[in-house]
Amino acid sequence: MAAKRRDRQRAAELGAQETARKAEELPRRARVLGIVASDKTFAKRPLGGSAGAFVWAGKCIHCNAQLSVALDGTLLGVATVEHIVPRHHGGGDSVENLALACARCNGGKGIRHDGKPRGDAKLEAMIALLQKRRAERWRDPAGSV
Ligand SMILES: [Zn+2]
Repeated sequence: MAAKRRDRQRAAELGAQETARKAEELPRRARVLGIVASDKTFAKRPLGGSAGAFVWAGKCIHCNAQLSVALDGTLLGVATVEHIVPRHHGGGDSVENLALACARCNGGKGIRHDGKPRGDAKLEAMIALLQKRRAERWRDPAGSV
């Protein structure tokens, strides 16, 4: 009987983990859609090959490489979420501080800049450049989707 109780407890724990994972996944996709909606390089494009299927296609904040996002906000291919002000420097998840970047650029920025102390000239220049680009691409999220 004790074993059965343990099994039930384990199943309940796994269920709770799954619920927590899903609860995390939903805001993440909502955040991605928030970026797409407020970045005018993104537009709904037909997905080559499968008739009737669409993706959001837009550009990497760093190198302008083509990025794709599923209509439900799932990142496709090399698309990643970039924090313009790095999280460990107090950059939050507000949509103004987020952009989409290809994995190569995002990783490169992480290695070259994110470890630098706040106030470092190169880090500050990178943040300023990304904020300027983000502002140039900005569109009113309410009007786009
Ligand atoms: Zn890139």
